[in-house]
Amino acid sequence: MDLELSDTQALVQKTARDFASRVVAPQAAEIDEREKFPREILRGLADLGLMAINVPQELGGSGAGVVSAALALQEIARACASTAVMMSVTNMVGEAIARFGTDAQKQRHCPRLAGGEYATGSFALSEPDAGSDPGGMRTTARRDGGEWVIDGAKQWITGGSYAGVYIVWARTAGPETGARGISCFLVEGGANGLKVGRPEDKMGIRGSDTVPLEFDGVRVPAEALLGQENGGFKIAMMALDGGRIGISSQAIGIARAALAESVEYAKERKTFGVPIAQHQAIQWKLADMHTQIEAAHLLSMRAAALKEADQPFSREASISKLFASEMAVRVANEAVQIHGGYGYTREFAAERHLRDARVTMIYEGTSEIQRLVIARTVLS
Ligand SMILES: Cc1cc2nc3c(=O)[nH]c(=O)nc-3n(C[C@H](O)[C@H](O)[C@H](O)COP(=O)(O)OP(=O)(O)OC[C@H]3O[C@@H](n4cnc5c(N)ncnc54)[C@H](O)[C@@H]3O)c2cc1C
Repeated sequence: MDLELSDTQALVQKTARDFASRVVAPQAAEIDEREKFPREILRGLADLGLMAINVPQELGGSGAGVVSAALALQEIARACASTAVMMSVTNMVGEAIARFGTDAQKQRHCPRLAGGEYATGSFALSEPDAGSDPGGMRTTARRDGGEWVIDGAKQWITGGSYAGVYIVWARTAGPETGARGISCFLVEGGANGLKVGRPEDKMGIRGSDTVPLEFDGVRVPAEALLGQENGGFKIAMMALDGGRIGISSQAIGIARAALAESVEYAKERKTFGVPIAQHQAIQWKLADMHTQIEAAHLLSMRAAALKEADQPFSREASISKLFASEMAVRVANEAVQIHGGYGYTREFAAERHLRDARVTMIYEGTSEIQRLVIARTVLS
């Protein structure tokens, strides 16, 4: 077992860390406060090859692998969780097209996602009445000559106001077919009949764009089908397994920021004549925060290494996502506590980290859904 990073992994990590501290971190509070979509930052990430890290180089990606992608996401999330989620989803969309797309689909979309011509790529699976249970989706696609016509609504679509391409899931067989009657389509930004709704007013990751989408007779050519007809659900599940490593990384990054700021504060803030870092109760908090972050990191590296080696990794991705997201909420909550009353104000980033961490327990499969996946393997 080798826990050392390869030269490529170390380089990607350092590149992301430098960009995060130099460019992203100084803007993070403003991005949150003003709900500002970080277009220039996403362009900068694309310039560094960080928007398609695990996409082959011949398609414009970095070809640096899954572990590199996880490490880079941790670094960006440590600076700004809003930016990180859009980076994560765009990477996921590029990977899915590179893996399941036809040559024409890959050539059209991967270089544009990788190079920043598309601000984001979006993953349009959830619906107003189908989140944890996407097999219950109602959006439909029907064949009309050489085209597909998509009708329905999607909900919570990250980066959806700015996406150059959306992966859209729709029912192509009757509702009785459940998950076996769903296909997957590539819909380009600005398609006729595609309406983007008002961004959600969220608790955290306020700089990330989250919108409902309406498909009103959106026509796409037959060649827009991604993968096999009625084979879309499998693509969604496989992409989500990978995406869960991304969300683990986001959670770890948020927790690292919360710990670093807590350490700094604990060394400066004095009570009873000494820095609070000298009180054992605070030291224990810091030790527990650090230990939990390290555990989450190792779990995420295991899932990433398995995926990179083309081994089954679904269970490991769920374990990693469940642990990292709940860990991030605990760690960010402790960070607020260590900051005392100041932690409850916007003067310090601790409250932002707590708000940002909370969503990691919800998207790309809630904690309850991760437990279902894990329990299935425990009981088998
Ligand atoms: C900020 C944000 C960004 C998002 N981005 C995207 C995106 O880009 N693309 C996309 O497709 N979706 C996205 N989502 C949607 C997200 O994946 C869903 O919100 C999530 O899967 C939960 O679905 P739901 O909200 O419909 O909750 P529900 O499915 O209604 O669940 C409600 C509660 O019931 C629990 N529950 C449900 N079923 C079970 C069960 N069988 N056993 C036990 N408990 C259960 C859930 O865990 C939850 O606690 C995003 C969501 C948010 C908040």
